[in-house]
Amino acid sequence: MKEINANEFEQEVLKGEKVVLDFYSSECPPCEALAPKFEGLAKLYGNNLKFLKIFRQQNRELADKLGVKSSPTLLFFDNGAEVGNRLTGGIKRSDIIHNLDSMLPENKVKEIKDQIKPSVSECDVIILGAGPGGLTAGLYLCQAKINTVLVDIALPGGQVATTHEVSNYPGFIEPQAGYMLSHNMSEQTKMCGTVYKVAVDITKVDLEKKEIVIDEFETLKAKRIIIATGTSPNATGAVGERELKGKGISYCATCDAKYYGDKEVVVIGGGNSAIEESDFIAKFASKVTIVHQFDKFTANKKAQEKIFANPKIATVFQHEPRLFRRDGDKMITELEDLRTKERKTIVSDGVFIFIGMKPNIDLFKDKLQLDQWGYVKTNEDMQTSIPGVYAVGDVISKKYRQITTAVADGTIAAIAIAKELD
Ligand SMILES: Cc1cc2nc3c(=O)[nH]c(=O)nc-3n(C[C@H](O)[C@H](O)[C@H](O)COP(=O)(O)OP(=O)(O)OC[C@H]3O[C@@H](n4cnc5c(N)ncnc54)[C@H](O)[C@@H]3O)c2cc1C
Repeated sequence: MKEINANEFEQEVLKGEKVVLDFYSSECPPCEALAPKFEGLAKLYGNNLKFLKIFRQQNRELADKLGVKSSPTLLFFDNGAEVGNRLTGGIKRSDIIHNLDSMLPENKVKEIKDQIKPSVSECDVIILGAGPGGLTAGLYLCQAKINTVLVDIALPGGQVATTHEVSNYPGFIEPQAGYMLSHNMSEQTKMCGTVYKVAVDITKVDLEKKEIVIDEFETLKAKRIIIATGTSPNATGAVGERELKGKGISYCATCDAKYYGDKEVVVIGGGNSAIEESDFIAKFASKVTIVHQFDKFTANKKAQEKIFANPKIATVFQHEPRLFRRDGDKMITELEDLRTKERKTIVSDGVFIFIGMKPNIDLFKDKLQLDQWGYVKTNEDMQTSIPGVYAVGDVISKKYRQITTAVADGTIAAIAIAKELD
């Protein structure tokens, strides 16, 4: 694996060979999540493909020329031409493998796959998800000398890692940068001795057997499982949204707002996240237009006051996006007026979507009792409907989803498990 700059692009990428190129940024949690996968795959595929990294912030001109709009972005080249699908955002190991395999002859792919040896290991507790809920459970279990493995599809930290500032977590007089708060939580749990398996693909979860398979070949067995997988942003469902994710549409202001210096941005949403993140985006962008489906925002009043006092921020109420498309460098957002059904378009440089969240339970939802909104039901010890399986944090059915409540859930589950296993 090698780091290159824009001057070396032609020599290293365009002069033949099979190449995978990672455009990454600093302060970008999805880039950090990708790094260990990229490194692992470089070891596995490195004899057959060239693995290159390029720092996007210092090579902006090249990134713009190649149409790279978001970090991280993986580009694949064969014999000087770009091939396959670009990968952006929270990139899965399996998606990279799919692209790499398609660039190699079948016998080479088989040869590489044959090098991977399946493994099975055992522990007391598997925690799925390393946000505040999972990290706190990990800390308490570790301090109770319970052998615990913390598994996450991304890097530790959860949503806090991508939150600009946290001002309501007790113990800090000044607001804390989200990534620092989550970093400290993670380091505390890691230093205690909890085993981390992060930035992995979860291939299979069997809650009844208490077994999970990660990255296809690694089986972990446990006596208890804690589900702490949190929530993910909802999509609008408008035409073009999926295709333009990472190519003009973003769900993470901390990751991407810095690329909209003196540019115009559209924000979809009107709750706390949309309003707080619009305020943050407006520190970079020349204009932010917030589009909301209702006739007023649902965010807290203090955040709203800031928005209304900011001359860079405009609002469009009672409209919903129906279509996103690119026109050269510009993003076209087609809006429907919910009162008249008339359509209008807004031209901008980028779109951010903050319209609520859904629980991350796709891998195991069939087995668990859920509430009417799809969140996991638990009792007061955080036990789910499956014996030995606990759930904590934003993924569970509850009224208030905050860092403090996730941390409290994690504490309760860990103490309950420690008593059971004692
Ligand atoms: C923009 C924004 C701002 C916020 N600001 C605040 C604030 O100021 N104060 C506050 O108290 N709260 C705030 N919150 C809410 C707070 O971040 C959450 O309540 C809290 O992070 C929930 O913690 P959690 O551990 O349940 O889940 P999360 O933090 O969501 O962590 C879940 C983890 O699970 C991982 N995961 C997902 N699927 C899987 C899987 N299948 N297998 C393994 N791992 C998986 C994810 O990668 C993630 O690391 C904010 C939320 C957002 C979105």
